[in-house]
Amino acid sequence: MAAEIISGTEIRKTILAELHEEVEKLKRDYGKPPGLVTILVGENPASVSYVTLKVKTAEGLGFHEIQDTQPEDISEEALLALVDKYNNDPDIHGILVQLPLPGHIDEKKVLNAIDPDKDVDGFHPVNVGRLMIGGDQAIFAPCTPAGIQEMIVRSGTETSGAEVVVVGRSNIVGKPIAMMMAQKGVGANATVTIVHTRTRSLEEHCKRADILIVAAGVPNLVKPDWIKPGATVIDVGVNRVGTNEKTGKAILRGDVDYEEACKVAGKITPVPGGVGPMTIAMLMKNTVKSAQMHLAKS
Ligand code: NAP
Repeated sequence: MAAEIISGTEIRKTILAELHEEVEKLKRDYGKPPGLVTILVGENPASVSYVTLKVKTAEGLGFHEIQDTQPEDISEEALLALVDKYNNDPDIHGILVQLPLPGHIDEKKVLNAIDPDKDVDGFHPVNVGRLMIGGDQAIFAPCTPAGIQEMIVRSGTETSGAEVVVVGRSNIVGKPIAMMMAQKGVGANATVTIVHTRTRSLEEHCKRADILIVAAGVPNLVKPDWIKPGATVIDVGVNRVGTNEKTGKAILRGDVDYEEACKVAGKITPVPGGVGPMTIAMLMKNTVKSAQMHLAKS
């Protein structure tokens, strides 16, 4: 039987509709919408396009959205002062600094300067620690892992007691999603294995997975016979494998041999249209959560 497709595009629509309701409620209760600032340094075309998408989504939800674009040669000191300004702005609940930053700026220093309670990207060491502790301490999960967990839950996949195998151990995807799935709680309670380039038998680990999450950045790394029949497969990989001659657009593939995997998996995410569309939705969700916390305290 062909696998059920978990569409990130569809789930994203549902989440944005839910968030729209929550934004309206915040406006009714406190007279204020969530505030998000997106700081962009320079004109890196990929960064400009990501920021444009984020700004459009935030505006569509009725956020107070500021796109703060700074010149490529802004000094580190001036950028830190800008972050501090937004840390102290009561109308801003989420601060996002688009990466990468120019070489003369220490990215870590800038990200660490963001108030952890406004760090809606979830990359500040304080939020990484909170995620590790779990429960209600974990206020901002990083957006891609949060999107992955949301897809698993909304697809009706049972996580409690499930064998989860995560391929990849990056700080932005592999490690946080592994930690989130292992926590006590809804959409978690799983038994988690993390595999990477030094793992002795990648294939054998993958074959045990009830839920297989692949974030390696290697096209077609996971073969159909590595997938347990009926498993839920979340393909995080986004790999440019060529260019469509007619449209000039990049041809994207995930880390899983999708067509063949569809014949074995129970549920599977496509690339594109899977995890990708979820990331910005989760950024919006974190910002709404931050606004709820800040406004309730005000
Ligand atoms: P990354 O920092 O390059 O990490 C890749 C991880 O995969 C590393 O831990 C690496 O192991 C492991 N790996 C690579 N090749 C492997 C192999 N042959 N066998 C086993 N493990 C292997 O990548 P990332 O930032 O996590 O991103 C992973 C993929 O997800 C990329 O394609 C990226 O574009 C995509 N992505 C998508 C979204 C989205 O859709 N919103 C967001 C983020 C990332 P070692 O640690 O041993 O080197």
